[in-house]
Amino acid sequence: MSLHSDPLEALRLGAGVRRPRRWRRTPALRDLVRETSLDPADLVYPLFVVPGEGVRRPVSSMPGVDQLSVDALASEARDIWALGLKAVLLFGIPSAKDPHGLESHADDGVVQRAIGALKSASPELVVITDVCLCEYTDHGHCGLLDETGYVLNDETLDVLGRIAVSHAEAGADIVAPSGMLDGMVGAIRGALDGEGFSGVAILSYAVKYASAFYGPFREAADGAPSFGDRRSHQMDPANAREALREVALDVEEGADALMVKPALGYLDVVSSVRDRFGELPLAAYNVSGEYAMVKAAAANGWIDERAAVLEVLTAIRRAGADLVITYHAKDAAAWLQAR
Ligand SMILES: [Zn+2]
Repeated sequence: MSLHSDPLEALRLGAGVRRPRRWRRTPALRDLVRETSLDPADLVYPLFVVPGEGVRRPVSSMPGVDQLSVDALASEARDIWALGLKAVLLFGIPSAKDPHGLESHADDGVVQRAIGALKSASPELVVITDVCLCEYTDHGHCGLLDETGYVLNDETLDVLGRIAVSHAEAGADIVAPSGMLDGMVGAIRGALDGEGFSGVAILSYAVKYASAFYGPFREAADGAPSFGDRRSHQMDPANAREALREVALDVEEGADALMVKPALGYLDVVSSVRDRFGELPLAAYNVSGEYAMVKAAAANGWIDERAAVLEVLTAIRRAGADLVITYHAKDAAAWLQAR
């Protein structure tokens, strides 16, 4: 007797009764039961601002990404807004670096001027700023150093507060401390509130791993450490439970939103942070190395770039991220608008 000729046997096995494929038969049926959405408003586009005028310098390891001077930001802001994107994350490359990263909190610093340019071109565009010292220090580390080259924690917190206040004064909506120093969120909250910026939110890089996938970013942001690495403050890729401890501390200190970085190798962490701290918005950073891999494979004709990018971004959202910070944001937004 064949399997399907015996109704009871078929029922026992579920054949003919439970058929998940019924929901996959047509595009409309699939649209109807899709669990995860992807919208341009879910994406944040990183920008790298450099000194000078009329600069649009391609980042060789990140095809499609350029370093821009402040004067180029007005048209960029309007393009970004027209694509349906709501937010940018700003990184600055200063004109001069020193051991203390002084330009990070200068009134006429490159980021401070960039915020003004973006806001006057597109007032509604949400401007998020990276708050760290690594792009500004001549040694390329995320804080002040002791004589052995170790990043000093508490001595650096005061500087981070000053950077955040200077970004707020320039008009930033959200500051995003990325240095993984203990107490950074509380220190920045105190500094902002002390200067009357209680409305400026903190998106904390609460869980940032010491990842090999930041390589291309270091070209884009000119922020490679001149010696050593960042393992004394960024997390060990082997640790997931420790991530929950990092998040709990940042929540206690007053973080308004959380981030996991990188995204693709850490979707389990995105998911567990979502489960444990679901009351706060969660961002995941689809980092430069992840971007470069997709671009390189696509350039070789090895993958379909559009399909791969939309799949990657959907997967990060499915893991639990509300927001995805991604260099693919402009392309993805254009594809989503055309859908
Ligand atoms: Zn840093």
